[in-house]
Amino acid sequence: MAITEREQLSAGPTIATMKAAVVEDFTKPLVVKQVPKPVAGRGEIIVRIETSGLCHTDIHAAHGDWPVKPTPPFIPGHEGCGIVEQVGAGVSEVVLGDRVVVPWLGYACGTCDYCVSGRETLCLAQQNTGYSIDGGFAEYVKASARYVVKVPAGVDPVDASPLACAGVTTYKAVKVAGTRPSNLVAIFGIGGLGHLALQYARIAGGRVIAVDVHDEKLALAKELGAEFTVNAAKEDPVEAIQKLGGADQAIALAVSPKAFEQAYGSLRRGGTLVFVALPADNTVELPIFETVLNGITIVGSIVGTRVDLREVFELHAAGLTKVITEVRSLDTVNESIEDVDAGRVPARIVFVP
Ligand code: NAD
Ligand code: ZN
Ligand code: ZN
Repeated sequence: MAITEREQLSAGPTIATMKAAVVEDFTKPLVVKQVPKPVAGRGEIIVRIETSGLCHTDIHAAHGDWPVKPTPPFIPGHEGCGIVEQVGAGVSEVVLGDRVVVPWLGYACGTCDYCVSGRETLCLAQQNTGYSIDGGFAEYVKASARYVVKVPAGVDPVDASPLACAGVTTYKAVKVAGTRPSNLVAIFGIGGLGHLALQYARIAGGRVIAVDVHDEKLALAKELGAEFTVNAAKEDPVEAIQKLGGADQAIALAVSPKAFEQAYGSLRRGGTLVFVALPADNTVELPIFETVLNGITIVGSIVGTRVDLREVFELHAAGLTKVITEVRSLDTVNESIEDVDAGRVPARIVFVP
């Protein structure tokens, strides 16, 4: 029987599909399924994902932990690394075949005061990959060509993925902390972020105190160059760090308000506390009097810019950093989230689609 023109039109062109891990409901596991493959518009590209890191932020996103929530259904993932497979009109930043990462800062306006003063991560018009726009837990991701960062030759995609968020975020946090040679730097939380934070603190000349609640994480910290370790489940980190003279800087990377308070308490006079982790429980209790009298600085730090990420890749290509990963199939996304929550992973899980 002949197909009428109307029937042909309603059938439409065949839509290409791809595998993706989708958050459909904050209270349910992610669903791995086929969804339409994105198409690049003006200024956009399609990246074929090789690797995609699981950041704790993806877990917050999947659970709807934060005051500003993503809208399900969405695809998490902001440590996607892959090959540019399609370029939209007007793209001059990358060409087909380039290897890029698609980071958290998926888009910024490029013209506001923040964007033009090298603070693009504060842009009010920003879009966030794997949160307000679909991310890298898929076979393909659509990205704004201007906000991807090229991966230099010699940086493996398995390493490039964690560097795209865990790396750049902690590199920036150490910059914001102002670490200088001989400073004592307390790193609270030796997970995906922390294992890189301690390396950047060392590169800046700092001496590192690693704090975590799992002995295996502390053993890793030692291997990566921490001078002191404190298991906060077994001893009071404030007491232990004050015994060493107090930290010049403390970087809060543990998903626990209590760890922020301990990081504060571990500082010496004139010290700086950098807020980086984003626990669902959104408040800490800190004393005003001691903050004033001790001249304490408290500062928030959000990811890093494209320039910071280029520097992160340069350091890695030069052999100055080590990324600790476990590669798993994207199909394991839900059990992987449980493993991260339980502290059962070496540092970072990296998915392959
Ligand atoms: P992770 O789960 O890999 O690491 C957290 C580590 O903290 C684990 O090793 C865990 O054992 C340890 N920990 C837990 N409780 C602790 C405690 N009480 N004291 C000391 N250590 C403790 O998580 P991650 O991917 O490294 O992310 C950490 C946090 O940073 C998350 O909240 C994430 O959303 C946030 N984040 C912020 C930014 C930013 O730009 N500010 C960027 C990326 C991630
Ligand atoms: Zn992240
Ligand atoms: Zn802007």
